[in-house]
Amino acid sequence: MAPLDAVVVGAGHNGLSAAITLARAGLRVQVIEAQDRVGGGLRSLELTRPGFIHDYGSAIHPLSVASPAFRQWPLHAFGLSWVQPPAPVAHPLDGGRSVTLERSLDATADGLGRDGPAYRRLMRPLLDDWEGLLGDILRPLPRVPGHPLTLARFGVRGLPPAEGLGRALFRTPEARALWAGLAAHSILPLSTPGTSAATLVLALLGHAVGWPFPRGGAQAIADALRGYLEHLGGEVVTGVRVRGPGDLPEARATLVDSSPRVLLDILGERAPAAYRRALEGFRYGPGIQKFDYALSGPVPWADGRVARAATVHLGGGADEIAASEAQAARRVSARPYVLCAQHTLFDPSRAPAGAHTFWAYAHVPSGSTADIRPQVEAQIERFAPGFQGRVLASRVTDAPMLEAFSPVFHGGDVNGGSGTLWGLLARPVLSATPYRTPVRGVYLCSSSTPPGGGIHGMAGYHAAYAALKDEFGLREEV
Ligand SMILES: Cc1cc2nc3c(=O)[nH]c(=O)nc-3n(C[C@H](O)[C@H](O)[C@H](O)COP(=O)(O)OP(=O)(O)OC[C@H]3O[C@@H](n4cnc5c(N)ncnc54)[C@H](O)[C@@H]3O)c2cc1C
Repeated sequence: MAPLDAVVVGAGHNGLSAAITLARAGLRVQVIEAQDRVGGGLRSLELTRPGFIHDYGSAIHPLSVASPAFRQWPLHAFGLSWVQPPAPVAHPLDGGRSVTLERSLDATADGLGRDGPAYRRLMRPLLDDWEGLLGDILRPLPRVPGHPLTLARFGVRGLPPAEGLGRALFRTPEARALWAGLAAHSILPLSTPGTSAATLVLALLGHAVGWPFPRGGAQAIADALRGYLEHLGGEVVTGVRVRGPGDLPEARATLVDSSPRVLLDILGERAPAAYRRALEGFRYGPGIQKFDYALSGPVPWADGRVARAATVHLGGGADEIAASEAQAARRVSARPYVLCAQHTLFDPSRAPAGAHTFWAYAHVPSGSTADIRPQVEAQIERFAPGFQGRVLASRVTDAPMLEAFSPVFHGGDVNGGSGTLWGLLARPVLSATPYRTPVRGVYLCSSSTPPGGGIHGMAGYHAAYAALKDEFGLREEV
């Protein structure tokens, strides 16, 4: 056997994307995964009853279809197919009303009434150059942008807090609620500078590529990445946890798809004190608590139009969502913002005939084990009276359970680190190549590096290019 060129610790989408990038450059790569199957946050499991397939972590994948890395790779040839619901997002309001983010920018604007023109003016210039913009932001910052005009426009709109910008731009409760529901994905108080950027990206993706999900379960993305990697000659070993430098096979480069703390274990005594201190002080965001349901029928939404989208934002109006997110890092509000997914309306392969699954989570303080089921289910009942009567079985996953599942989800933080501007810039440390560690040949490639959380493979992709340049003298991207 030829010696390994590179070893990747962890087979989340970032570890697999790093390995694919290295294998495409002709290197011999091995991936070592602690769990018995690849995927990390992309696992799909029968969490409630046999025949009900639930996404343990990630559920909705606009970033995957838009990812510059995934778009180059033939993942469809390895079993990945997308389900595209008619509307990306539905947001029910009290009184049996709702507002939707539609695939079409014009249809969304039309649904926003007198706020339609403001929404159109905000989104149109970004949508016209969405691929260029994503290429500029799904990588470490600051860099010389490829599309400076669009990036500048995005920066001007993205830097203010989402709460203030939503209030300044929109007058109707519908438009303000839709904006706040998108902004709350940032898992930050909506008064935080930069939260408008996350909001804009999510709305933009809805119009550019929709908010689809893989047929059969999120696992299909991970399995397709593994299939492509093996087709390129890469190897995957499962069921082996790397605890220190002694557990690694010999290779010129090691890429770690895990938390900064696990990286420190792998670096061992080789980590300089200053780097160790920086990683020990790495800032995480709040956690989440997750709920999976097996249902006897579809969710009985008061407004039937909510069934046009797989993603549903529960939380009522903009002020209510802002109030709930303002305190999420400290305590859970009586009326939390709940992010939901209803896959089986569009993909019946995930449940027995006539039955459905339902996926939901709410933000909680880091590491919280508090039982928030009553608040979460009250929010679902508020917009879907009779929901509880359809529950056949359910499963709660709290923040410590998520961290035990993958160390990347420290304290239940699904984004692998705080999403503040500083948290995105200094991830895990302030550096032009944040993937590189002070130890020659060792790189971090998880969502605790730019561009952060979400399923796009871009942290793995950029980390692999750093290794290819440093260790193997490669200049051109392949
Ligand atoms: C409940 C939940 C909902 C989410 N919803 C969405 C969503 O809808 N859309 C979206 O885009 N994103 C979503 N996310 C975020 C997304 O899942 C993460 O950003 C993503 O999984 C991070 O990928 P990663 O490769 O960095 O880490 P992970 O996915 O955590 O993968 C890391 C892998 O490395 C392995 N590993 C770690 N340390 C070691 C070691 N020492 N030895 C061997 N193996 C190791 C782990 O077992 C794991 O398999 C969600 C996450 C959660 C938890």
